[in-house]
Amino acid sequence: MVGGTAAAPEPRSRPPDGTAEPQSDVRAFIEALRPDARNRGVSDATFDRAFRDVALPDPAILARTKAQGEFGRPVWDYLVGAVSPGRIARGRAAAARLDPILSRIEAAYGVPRWMVLAIWGVESDFGASGGATPVIRSLATLAQASYRGSLFRDELLSALTILERGDIAPEAMKGSWAGAMGQVQFLPSNYLKHAVDFDGDGRRDIWTSEADALASIAAFLRSLGWNPVVAWGYAVALPPGFDLSGHRGDLGDFAARDVRRTDGQKLPRSGLASLFLPGGAGGPAFLITDNFEVIRGYNTSDSYALAIGHLADRLAGGPALAAPWPSAASRLDKTGLQALQAGLAAEGLYDGEADGRAGPKLREAVRRYQVRAGLAVDGYASADLLAHLRASRR
Ligand code: CA
Repeated sequence: MVGGTAAAPEPRSRPPDGTAEPQSDVRAFIEALRPDARNRGVSDATFDRAFRDVALPDPAILARTKAQGEFGRPVWDYLVGAVSPGRIARGRAAAARLDPILSRIEAAYGVPRWMVLAIWGVESDFGASGGATPVIRSLATLAQASYRGSLFRDELLSALTILERGDIAPEAMKGSWAGAMGQVQFLPSNYLKHAVDFDGDGRRDIWTSEADALASIAAFLRSLGWNPVVAWGYAVALPPGFDLSGHRGDLGDFAARDVRRTDGQKLPRSGLASLFLPGGAGGPAFLITDNFEVIRGYNTSDSYALAIGHLADRLAGGPALAAPWPSAASRLDKTGLQALQAGLAAEGLYDGEADGRAGPKLREAVRRYQVRAGLAVDGYASADLLAHLRASRR
């Protein structure tokens, strides 16, 4: 689900009303696409074959646009689901089975096998569930409904381009309900930019070729700027009395301040990192590098990026997280996060959207507020913090 860029998108725009369109409107919608498809080099033959036998709209897809997304789900709930013992076992088995391919991918792209496997595992459970929905039908349904503006119309045109190139037959081009395709869950535009033919058969096949799927994940991360010198981040333990206000700096400086990796290995001597405390002070602690932002290019959520990083560590043999997560009562849901974003914006501390999503911008704003208020500077957008902010504004 290559997000922000290519993943199953969050429902952000107004959902379509789901009423069935008369068939003539469907024809008109498809014919209006034809000139743009021609401009992208799509032949009439490819175009007509793509839409042959495609009934529009797909009511099941329209229903999905109205379903509640994973907003506000706490990071630890997401982690437990994404990094399950079964998934770790399947991932380690895949690593053993695919060792030669993974070695070649590491050499070609500089992305560690554990990272590639973790994304493959979360996106499609190691290729087992790449989605069974015909991509042309789902994208055309979402495009016709103008769901998220023109995004899906553009993706539909990209999907037609893929068919024109002959990488996949229309009936085999399947994905999730929102058009994220195959084992890697690329939207068509990301497929065009990043998918690679790694098994050398001349087709970029992210549906049935494990080599192509795994290499495409690595190629995507590489093109987003993956730095092979450092990890995605490091699970760490902080020494007692650690000064949380110095939260960004060199890995070597963190080591000098007695920050230790939980897997017992040494931190690299250099490389920039930020302290990330997703459950606040006292919970699990991570030093995240710029590679964390690279993973967020696949899917913009912090929970996703952390789950990928932690799953990669577990696949590589690393320990489970030991520090306790905070109580359910301390977490903010989407509405609470929006209230906090609005409150911090009113204080001049936050200039992002009040979208109810935790991310680096909100963390920085929380830290600025905590510094100003003399609180522990852990960057955790908690219920206590919102209560403090509200009390201070009375
Ligand atoms: Ca291939």
